[in-house]
Amino acid sequence: MSIFVRSTTFGYNRVRKMRDQPFIHTALLQETAGDPGRGRVRCLTCERRCVIPPGEVGWCRTRQNQGGSLVTLTYGAISSLSANPIEKKPLHHFYPGSVALTAGSYSCNFSCPWCQNWEISKCPPDGGKFYSPAHFVAEAINRGCQGTSISFNEPTLSLEWSLEVFRLARQAGLYNTFVTNGYMTEAALERLAERGLHGMNVDVKGNAESVHSYCKADVEVVWRNLLRAQELGIWVEITTLVIPGVNDEMEVLATIASRILHDLGPCTPWHLTRYHPAYRFTTPPTPVQTLEQARAVGREMGLQYVYIGNVPGHFAENTYCPSCGQMLVQRWSMWKVKVNVPGGRCPSCGERIPGVGWNWEERAP
Ligand code: SF4
Repeated sequence: MSIFVRSTTFGYNRVRKMRDQPFIHTALLQETAGDPGRGRVRCLTCERRCVIPPGEVGWCRTRQNQGGSLVTLTYGAISSLSANPIEKKPLHHFYPGSVALTAGSYSCNFSCPWCQNWEISKCPPDGGKFYSPAHFVAEAINRGCQGTSISFNEPTLSLEWSLEVFRLARQAGLYNTFVTNGYMTEAALERLAERGLHGMNVDVKGNAESVHSYCKADVEVVWRNLLRAQELGIWVEITTLVIPGVNDEMEVLATIASRILHDLGPCTPWHLTRYHPAYRFTTPPTPVQTLEQARAVGREMGLQYVYIGNVPGHFAENTYCPSCGQMLVQRWSMWKVKVNVPGGRCPSCGERIPGVGWNWEERAP
């Protein structure tokens, strides 16, 4: 990931200084909160639904009430930009081997103390480099990418910019993806789908207790949005960063597997990724054995595609046919991808393999 701007200190005064910069844009989803005379506004971008008094910012610090109207402070404010393999998201059943121009901005609406991208996600709006949606999409085309991805920090906070990027990218024949904690409102999710969000990787960070305690969030919202995304025709894959002492008990992981199975179906890919110490967490990395045990639990429960991530060269990076065991996609450290799913089917037994864009090299998205 290339990071343009790294901020180590920040105060709300700096938020106020950004008013004249190009990053200010009217927030799409907002409503008056309570007595109109008090000028308070409710943000309807994510399920925190912050009520923000005049002059103040919401929980994520990317939205400010300016004179009774909410604005985003991060429209086109790019902290990081890089062309990434789609496997990095990770999305394993979505245009495998393709490359997505990926952009991140600043801040987050969760409080995870282990954040692997904390340099930008724990950093409030801090300028960055401005990319208009048209510039970003042109850059994706120039770099030979097949799609776009909004990632690195929480993309929901870049809702307005993403909508315009998706509109232009879809027109240009590119796909669009989000890597998200899945905490947007249904209204935000529906708008993203309308504009051409094709695929999402959503973090399910643990059970209700751990998500509430560490992320200060309600995991039921995430499950609701996963289901809604499927209904809207968005391809969905799930990631759980397995963290020792937080969510590495097999009972907890079995609960997640069971929910995926019953709510979303056995073909929904589940990525068990290895944690490394970051931000406020110094716990040593997750033992690979724990990930393998969790994968076995998921598969025994009936999930057909359970992957292990952040362990380069591990056999569970690959896709295997759930019917005959044939290797269908071979991966090594994201860039080396060999795909053998002709017509979306196993070449050995003919089993249909769920996913999108298996043969994108033969057909434009
Ligand atoms: S996007 Fe930010 S300001 Fe809006 S509800 Fe979520 S946390 Fe609050």
